[in-house]
Amino acid sequence: VLEIKNLHKRFGKLEVLKGIDLTMEKGDVVSLIGSSGSGKTTLLRCVNLLEEYEDGVVAVAGEQIGYKLKNERRIRLSEKEIARQRSMTGMAFQHFNLFPHMSAIRNVMLGLIKTRGMTKDEAYAIAEKWLDRVGMLARKDHYPGQISGGQQQRVAIARAIAMNPQLMLFDEVTSALDPELVNEVLAVIQDLAKDGMTMLLVTHEMQFARDVSTKVIFMQDGQIGEEGPPKQLFKNPKTERLAAFLKNSK
Ligand code: ATP
Repeated sequence: VLEIKNLHKRFGKLEVLKGIDLTMEKGDVVSLIGSSGSGKTTLLRCVNLLEEYEDGVVAVAGEQIGYKLKNERRIRLSEKEIARQRSMTGMAFQHFNLFPHMSAIRNVMLGLIKTRGMTKDEAYAIAEKWLDRVGMLARKDHYPGQISGGQQQRVAIARAIAMNPQLMLFDEVTSALDPELVNEVLAVIQDLAKDGMTMLLVTHEMQFARDVSTKVIFMQDGQIGEEGPPKQLFKNPKTERLAAFLKNSK
């Protein structure tokens, strides 16, 4: 589903990603952990070209994202092609970005109609199914301002998943929530993981990363410091840096 090879990314002189390799198969759940500024969010954003990358390969479902190679030179794809590629991935952010003037169900329907070309009836049926799945069907006619942050985030997740992406990206989706609302969102993600959804997530919730992931990656200064199955990584960190990070995260 996802193949990243030797990915490099710079912001001006600052090299933020220094050669990342990551392969994900269908059903894999990979969590990116690590200290602030280590490049987790940037890595995630390169996967759907919210950030451009200078070097290396990012491929989703076998297609290189954003560029094609011609005579060994990278040529940027057209905006139309990039939009099509972006729709292969779904993304949920820290700030859920629901449209405030639309009800929950309208928020979920919008992309289905505009991007997937569905009729209103088709979109309505699919939106209902996913709102039900995240426990928000009873509030489908509520506006974002009438529901809690955790509920808004669940609607935002339903909106992304309704588009039937190959891969879901979650960027610190619980960081902006009050503590008592965190678990309801994590439970939704866990439920989707159990169902075999392929996901790449950035999280500060270590217990959650341990429970949900097939693999955990510890990012350190733009590189992969350590990676492995969560049990191994959390129980027996090989490096001092990871051991110290885990100690401080508890
Ligand atoms: P956090 O846990 O705080 O979100 P992170 O590991 O996700 O951190 P990134 O957000 O990927 O880290 O940032 C990596 C580095 O890139 C940081 O030093 C950050 O300041 C820098 N950076 C990120 N976005 C930009 C940008 N648009 N312009 C310049 N520098 C940026």
